[in-house]
Amino acid sequence: MSQINNPMEIFKLLNGSNCRDCNEQTCLAFAVAVFKEKKPIHACPHLEKEVIDKYGGAVEKPNTVDEYKSEAIEELKQKISSIDLSQAAKRLGAEFSKGKLNIKIFGKDFSVDSGGNLSSEAHINAYMVVPALNYILNGSGKTPRGDWITFRELNGGPSRYAHFQQRCEKPLKRVADTYTDLFKDMLEIFDGKQIDSHIDADISIVLHPLPLFPIMVCYWQPEEGLESSLHIYFDSASDDNLDIESNYTMNEGIALMFEKIALRHGA
Ligand code: SF4
Repeated sequence: MSQINNPMEIFKLLNGSNCRDCNEQTCLAFAVAVFKEKKPIHACPHLEKEVIDKYGGAVEKPNTVDEYKSEAIEELKQKISSIDLSQAAKRLGAEFSKGKLNIKIFGKDFSVDSGGNLSSEAHINAYMVVPALNYILNGSGKTPRGDWITFRELNGGPSRYAHFQQRCEKPLKRVADTYTDLFKDMLEIFDGKQIDSHIDADISIVLHPLPLFPIMVCYWQPEEGLESSLHIYFDSASDDNLDIESNYTMNEGIALMFEKIALRHGA
């Protein structure tokens, strides 16, 4: 792993486009944030995998990703405190009662108060909080159309697809290859539904990370010299209900959760 001694060394690795896909105003601001350990280097979706592998741990503390998420959560909570939650509930077809917006995350009941605090009897994972708050702030309320597209077909998907494969699909495939109960657990823990889809997979499971944001996980078992494969598909109305960064975060969280579950079960 190469060491980094100042922000300019990080800046030189970036493409200099100032495209803001990392949520920083400029590439230089991103380089400084990475150097100060406020952002992981992989938050720039335009870096090659080799660069991330080479510099990924050079300035990051092990908990950098969590710090990054907590910073984003604080910003989103402030935004939530300035909106009318009852209107947001109407827009999203959700319930509003006793000052709280009630929402299903993976089929389980969660509430958000006017300060943006999420509460539930279920476990609250940091990877779910950012997408849930963004969904409440910006989701259009559009009903899913029932046709499935790939991550690459979403707005902002092509530039992030390599990372999506690396951080979301591949880890889930590894779990599916070694931990045969993965899909049974998806049905039980995440309130998934097995469906027959036009995509000719051996197993297709639909999950609802958020009410109007379904995803479909498809797995093809290995056969006669062919490797297994796993892909995650999205409803074609997804872009209207969840931004690409939150979508990525949500799927990264799903993969991490299942890696943990599989490890606990000795896969
Ligand atoms: S996403 Fe990458 S290229 Fe775009 S502004 Fe951020 S650091 Fe620069």
